Amino acid sequence: MKRSISVLGSTGSIGRQTLEVAAACGHRVEALSVNRSVELAEQQARQFRPRLVVAADESAAADLRIRLADTGTKVLGGTQALCEAAVLPEADTVVTAVVGIVGLRPTLAAIDAGKRIALANKETLVCAGELVMARAKEKGVDIVPVDSEHSAIFQCLQGSRGRHEVRKLIITASGGPFYGKSCKELSLVTKEQALKHPNWAMGAKITIDSATLMNKGLEFIEAMRLYELPPEQIEIAVHRESIVHSLVEFVDGAILAQLGTADMRVPIQYALTWPERTEGPATPLDLFSCKPLTFTRPDVETFRCLGLALECARKGGNSTAVLNGANEAAVALFLDDRISFVDIPRLVEGALERVPFLEHPMLDDVLAADKAARAAVYELLR
Ligand code: MG
Repeated sequence: MKRSISVLGSTGSIGRQTLEVAAACGHRVEALSVNRSVELAEQQARQFRPRLVVAADESAAADLRIRLADTGTKVLGGTQALCEAAVLPEADTVVTAVVGIVGLRPTLAAIDAGKRIALANKETLVCAGELVMARAKEKGVDIVPVDSEHSAIFQCLQGSRGRHEVRKLIITASGGPFYGKSCKELSLVTKEQALKHPNWAMGAKITIDSATLMNKGLEFIEAMRLYELPPEQIEIAVHRESIVHSLVEFVDGAILAQLGTADMRVPIQYALTWPERTEGPATPLDLFSCKPLTFTRPDVETFRCLGLALECARKGGNSTAVLNGANEAAVALFLDDRISFVDIPRLVEGALERVPFLEHPMLDDVLAADKAARAAVYELLR
């Protein structure tokens, strides 16, 4: 199965690994989008010769236009142009590897254009999961997850005859770099420590989310939306070894798990080739040299971000968009050395208290909730 793909966020961690998979497996790259990493974008464009490269940053686009003048690749600038890359007629699959709610509009555009979505942008489902899933159903579009946990669940569900056979999903969590630390110890951690994930090499935003465990909370909400299950049927298990990527328990008591090394190229590749499997570049797990597998319950008191996310998962409405927007703003402040690690949940909680709750938000309400949450974070900071 060869796909023609458009990669949104091609210079990020998932984007770069998507291109590795494309090169190894012979998928054609039709479009790339970047934020402002022009040098890498140029390199990627020269290697893959896409029809279109989009830079969200206008001045980066102007620079790229000069750099790629000899190639015949079209260059567009601005966040609106992300949607152009998402609907390019020559691509049958869109890999949404951008970080944050910025992925929402292009994902919806790609769904409307009938593309397969290889979903690597969890914030989209967290903020507007019901809207996105309803639109995909209406258009008959497949959303295949790239996130390792959701891909594991997706793989375990192959061969299942429906949700009535599923008792619960068990999402595994590495626990992050601060596993076992007390609240007091967390108040002293530095940015450098937070950026060092024990098992996975990822972008800065998701690495911080993994340290606060917000990432697991976002993944919990993502799983609810993707698999249309209530929060009572989803569980989180801390699994320090990151070998079992997640599990599904069925009504007869059988539990299926997907195992592997911590290599994102496996779920990326599966999102492209599903329902088929093909040869790929990943190194398989060596069962005889892997560590013993352990599972424990997460500490939602100490890791307040996870506790807040689970509360929002139960509450629903616009609260998940507020949670996500406030978290995006707070993590950016932390990466900018403006706040401490434990300020992240404080600001998110403050934003959740300030932004009015709305039970059935439409797209505009979701975007408004996101904006209000960010504004609340800046206000609380002052
Ligand atoms: Mg994940």
